[in-house]
Amino acid sequence: MRVPLLDLKAQYATIRDEVREALDRVLESQQFIMGPEVPALEKALADYVGARHGIGMSSGTDALLAALMALGVGPGDRVITPAYSFFATAGVITRLNAVPVFTDIDPGSYNMSPTSLEKAWAALDRSVQQRVKAIVPVHLFGQCADMARILELATDAKVPVIEDAAQAIGTICKGGRAAGTMGVMGCFSFFPSKNLGAIGDGGMVVTDDEALAERLRLLRNHGAKPKYFHKIVGGNFRLDTIQAAVLLVKLRHLDTWHQARRENADRYRELFRQSGLVARGAVGLPPVTDPTPAIRSHIYNQFVIRSPKRDALRDFLTAQGVGTEIYYPVPFNLQECFADLGYRAGDFPESERAARESLALPIYPELTPAQQAYVVDWVAAFHPRA
Ligand SMILES: *Cc1c(COP(=O)(O)O)cnc(C)c1O
Repeated sequence: MRVPLLDLKAQYATIRDEVREALDRVLESQQFIMGPEVPALEKALADYVGARHGIGMSSGTDALLAALMALGVGPGDRVITPAYSFFATAGVITRLNAVPVFTDIDPGSYNMSPTSLEKAWAALDRSVQQRVKAIVPVHLFGQCADMARILELATDAKVPVIEDAAQAIGTICKGGRAAGTMGVMGCFSFFPSKNLGAIGDGGMVVTDDEALAERLRLLRNHGAKPKYFHKIVGGNFRLDTIQAAVLLVKLRHLDTWHQARRENADRYRELFRQSGLVARGAVGLPPVTDPTPAIRSHIYNQFVIRSPKRDALRDFLTAQGVGTEIYYPVPFNLQECFADLGYRAGDFPESERAARESLALPIYPELTPAQQAYVVDWVAAFHPRA
């Protein structure tokens, strides 16, 4: 048996006709830039998450970049973000010549630790605190960061929060609000491996703030309004019409896919429980989240287990045809490109431990129970009873 980490062909097989019809419509219209599907998707997605405005962007990375630009982040400013995330979260800060300030994560959720945020803030001189322009928590793997505490700290510090919700489109956080709608702006990615994936790159910023929405629309189009009259310097961060058209089709299926991932996660938990691996301490599972907003408290963009023998386990699974991935092998404080920030090994112990132990297993919606049993059987075979 082969169990890939992600099988996009299996998903495409279920929506082929709808997608081709949508593509055909765009091709016949030849309106590739800002065609009617772009505002249609912006409205549909803003409605889906419960935000007032959606602004389509060329990628999740550009969504984050534009969001920082909309707040006026510039040279020497500080932006606080966790040391453990996809690179883009920190990369966009440096691209604006601002300085990332890292926090550690909570080991259960892999998300920004509010305690560590409080410490990072307190460690800054007052003059530096005044240069902090944003706090950017990440809702990693499809699960919400502790927004209640993060927002409380941010409010006290008078610093706006931008949510990196690239992996959490549709996740409902404690308190009932969707990921991306609690800060001043929320950023989504439509990279093909995300729960709502395009047929290429794409992203979106959502916000309730009319002035920020207007600024984001300017920024994504070189700051021009009207055309050729540039109020500010932006970029070409537009979402392609063709991506919007495909995403409109896929959005109709998103809740079904979320549900299937959730059921797969529950099945993994049961299979791992039966295997005895968790009780023996051989593997750690993602914690069960608050089940009250049941289906979407975790959308399982990834199902990440921990293993003290992660690298050997991964090699073993690869040899059995089981696809896995390490999200992420190097925390930001140890990245070569951030060496000049002056962080050292040991600064963020939980981020560094996660980088050593975490392993993502296949969790995509079309995964079959037999495939999941195969995965868990081989994880068990790697850990023979003493
Ligand atoms: C995917 C991702 C991004 C970047 O999105 P792209 O569309 O790939 O540019 C940013 N942050 C996180 C946490 C992501 O997972």
